[in-house]
Amino acid sequence: MKKIQNNFIAVLLLAGAIMTFTQCSKENIASTSNQAVPAMKVSSADAELNGIDESETGTAAGTVNPMYSCINSFPVEPLSDDEINAINTMREEELLAKDIYTSMYALYHMPVFNNISKSENQHTGAIKVLMDKYDLPDIAANHVTGVFVNPDIQNLYNTLLAQGTVSLNGGLTVGATIEDLDIQDLVNHIANDVDNADILFVFNELERGSRNHLRSFYKLLKIRGITYVPQFITVEYFEEIINSPHEIGSGCPN
Ligand code: ZN
Ligand code: ZN
Repeated sequence: MKKIQNNFIAVLLLAGAIMTFTQCSKENIASTSNQAVPAMKVSSADAELNGIDESETGTAAGTVNPMYSCINSFPVEPLSDDEINAINTMREEELLAKDIYTSMYALYHMPVFNNISKSENQHTGAIKVLMDKYDLPDIAANHVTGVFVNPDIQNLYNTLLAQGTVSLNGGLTVGATIEDLDIQDLVNHIANDVDNADILFVFNELERGSRNHLRSFYKLLKIRGITYVPQFITVEYFEEIINSPHEIGSGCPN
């Protein structure tokens, strides 16, 4: 909870700066829009710009999510309070991402928002599989779009939705901000809160997906003349992510 509060304050403080930066950068669009994405195969670059995660798009409606059997192939281990809190927080944080991207797609009709919102639906679904495995009550059982049990996530949602509604550049910046925050929260949970192998597996998969999403938003912003600056993860980790290619999952380890 503390991390979310701190991050929320940071988002508020930086909101004005981002919007100002977004406005200033508009005039640069013409000079940078012809720059190609360097050293990228076309198909891979297309997938990244559209936010497609190949490993997450193969599940048709009505089929069993392969994530389900993989998560359940790990042993059941005792759950700590920190693990329960992390699961509850991430369940709603992934729903926040899904809800924001769904709204951004309805506003701007840019495929990246639609594709990544589907990926976020799979992310929150993977956490639901963990909840079912451990018989945890689902904090989002009665989820209504844009309404959250965790008040910090509710505040964050309200702020980000308002920022994203201003302009397409604002929406894409909100996308990068959500992925930046998501990665940092997952890094913190993995380092400090979680030791069960199944939760670690899910959180690492979510972090990999978030890195791909961040790459997509970063590139789309760059094409539009805006350089996103990380607000939560370290500059070193950010540089490592944006300078490495789209990642494909290595499958179930069991
Ligand atoms: Zn996610
Ligand atoms: Zn994401």
